[in-house]
Amino acid sequence: MSVTQQQVLDALAKVASPRGVALTNAGVLSPVTVTDGKVFFSINVDATEARAWESVRAQAEAAVRAIPGVTVAMIALTAERKPGPAAPPPHRHAHGVSPVSAHKPPQSPASPMSKQSEIPGVAAVIAVASGKGGVGKSTTALNLALGLRDLGLRVGLLDADIYGPSVPRLTGIREKPQLNDDRKMIPIMRFGLAIMSIGFLVEEDTAMIWRGPMVMSAITQMLRDVAWGALDVLVVDMPPGTGDAQLTLAQNVPLKGAVIVSTPQDLSLIDARRGLAMFKKVNVPVLGIVENMSYFQCPHCGTQSDIFGHGGARHEAERLGVPFLGEIPLHMSIRTTSDSGTPVVESEPNGAHAAIYRAIGAKVRDQLKGAIAAA
Ligand code: ADP
Repeated sequence: MSVTQQQVLDALAKVASPRGVALTNAGVLSPVTVTDGKVFFSINVDATEARAWESVRAQAEAAVRAIPGVTVAMIALTAERKPGPAAPPPHRHAHGVSPVSAHKPPQSPASPMSKQSEIPGVAAVIAVASGKGGVGKSTTALNLALGLRDLGLRVGLLDADIYGPSVPRLTGIREKPQLNDDRKMIPIMRFGLAIMSIGFLVEEDTAMIWRGPMVMSAITQMLRDVAWGALDVLVVDMPPGTGDAQLTLAQNVPLKGAVIVSTPQDLSLIDARRGLAMFKKVNVPVLGIVENMSYFQCPHCGTQSDIFGHGGARHEAERLGVPFLGEIPLHMSIRTTSDSGTPVVESEPNGAHAAIYRAIGAKVRDQLKGAIAAA
């Protein structure tokens, strides 16, 4: 039996709002999307009202989840600050609310949202980020996760690249996550990793149109509403770039550190510098920089050519005083294995590339040892 939009609206009509009318009559709902038992919408209110609406969001979510046939309910509360003198002072926003401001991410690193998004059983959450798209961030995130796995760690991968989730392609995962008895999503197990991607839940173009606050809300929910189990490291493949959505994410996900992926070209390094600045701003330690597509390695003769002026990221890391984690060549087999759903660390475990990713993994693990041991 498929769930209809009308069923969702009927359920929401039974939820009261702080405006004294039913939620459906309060003028705050975005269009409701229902695809294949998965329900998505947002409740859009002003930042000054946000506290009063958090419980409404929770009630709306419970009401939607109670509809037979609903497998996923993602309901975002977006709190936009109206510009102008009437806007509340920033601290008004900092108590007991989970909404995200569209214009200004919450300023305190100890915001209650970060508490809310802590994940029981997960020792260390780390981000893999890049200043721009197409530098091989997702390929690096997955192969790094596999490298950490090879070191004997229990590892998860969350594809938070909501604008273009590529983990379904990189892993070949086609199935949808099921719900457990607590109605949490069970991550898909592949290559010994617990994997979750927004791409398992929505079509790629649905994800593309989400606004910043909804992105954050969806990602927070993927962290909270997934039964990750006991993990040493959860690798988060971040959306590329350093805009507001990324900054809010970096601030509100309880990150133990971040790995920045860059190519050697100057432009990409400038973007990587922005990434470093972003994590610094929100007090997330940068575990190091990875130079991807560092040099071209001929698939036939193995000859190395520095077509992009190899080594820029290493110098940049030295200059900025952050660790340099390693160089990954531009190699055909990294691309083909990646794009066929059989990442190189998995399909060529004894090859040179797998060794590079494992060495990067070891440097990351060494920096996380304290957190892993404490857990
Ligand atoms: P991003 O996440 O930064 O957008 P992807 O990881 O999706 O980038 O990689 C973009 C493309 O580059 C993919 O086709 C991928 O297979 C390829 N790629 C990534 N790293 C390498 C590499 N070291 N050598 C060859 N191809 C690579």
